[in-house]
Amino acid sequence: MAAIALGIPAVRRGGSDVPSMAGRPDVPGLVDRFGRVAHDLRISITSACSLRCTYCMPAEGLPVIPRDELLSAGEIGRLVGIAVHELGVREVRFTGGEPLTRGDLVEIVRRSAEAAPGTPLALTTNGIGLDKRAEALRDAGLSRVNVSLDTLDREHFARLTRRDRLPAVLAGIAGAHRAGLGPLKVNAVLMRQTLHDAPALLEWAIEHGCRLRFIEQMPLDADEAWRREHMVDAEELLAVLGARFALTPVGREDPAAPAEEWLVDGGPATVGIIASVTRPFCGACDRTRLTAEGSVRSCLFGDDETDLRGLLRAGAGDDEIAEVWRAAMWAKKAGHGIDDVDFVRPVRTMGGIGG
Ligand code: SAM
Ligand code: SF4
Repeated sequence: MAAIALGIPAVRRGGSDVPSMAGRPDVPGLVDRFGRVAHDLRISITSACSLRCTYCMPAEGLPVIPRDELLSAGEIGRLVGIAVHELGVREVRFTGGEPLTRGDLVEIVRRSAEAAPGTPLALTTNGIGLDKRAEALRDAGLSRVNVSLDTLDREHFARLTRRDRLPAVLAGIAGAHRAGLGPLKVNAVLMRQTLHDAPALLEWAIEHGCRLRFIEQMPLDADEAWRREHMVDAEELLAVLGARFALTPVGREDPAAPAEEWLVDGGPATVGIIASVTRPFCGACDRTRLTAEGSVRSCLFGDDETDLRGLLRAGAGDDEIAEVWRAAMWAKKAGHGIDDVDFVRPVRTMGGIGG
């Protein structure tokens, strides 16, 4: 069915198809034409998921990517090594789909840690099943976990994610804490149905030693239900939270951090807001992304993808792969333009990119 296709845009296949490097300075890092340098690598490892969040997936889920089209654990490890040693990447995050649906996630982390010892390796997950694998992931080299949780109201959770799995998510968070995979960040997408659950979620996060960040909903849902005029923005959230807590703005942790932070009731607890739509931070973006099929995506919202899997499987050397990756990032566009009237959605939806 075309409407629920994974939405894979035309992928550049290497050779003459690789973006032009004209004007690019001869530096090893992932620089672009706007002076940005990417240090943060996000790797989607699957399109499968145990939930069906309405702001992300269609009810039937995304089409399964055939096993041989997914990067293997060894291929992921090799690309992580190239990213860190040749291209200046300093942090790697695994995402999806739901990364915990991959049986070889521990192996993916292990191969990545071996390829780039000392590089922080993080996981973005819905938490389902994390309690059973947190220790093995930590032992394999995982440094940190972000868990997505939008509400503590079980009915609201079930409606929003189309699955009644709140207890499993909470068990996953507890398991990650026990394994020492902290400081745990909790990400909540701002939705109208759960806006008034936000104060309780913040109270719970503070009590449980989690750093909560709210994210403005982006037009990356497979159902294409997002409307600029209906979305909950940072201002509206601040009004709701401000009725319960005293909030003091403290800015961003570092210039490339997507979240702006507020002290809660004088601190030390904080709450973050990632206002991707109303206060875009594209000018400070330091990300490079790999799809589960092994293509570089220079921007969450760009449809440009440049294939590395073909090169890997054709026996290309690290230098050649690094050069194609550099070219892909040199072509990165200036910004996403969600707030522009002529904004066009990317072909892939969030579950196919990974956030
Ligand atoms: N399944 C994992 C999870 O939910 O954390 C990883 C993949 S998920 C696509 C990554 C992040 O994207 C999650 O924090 C999720 O809440 C967020 N996300 C999904 N759809 C979004 C949207 N339309 N706008 C903003 N954030 C979104
Ligand atoms: Fe799955 Fe994460 Fe998308 Fe929710 S946000 S449907 S958990 S991939």
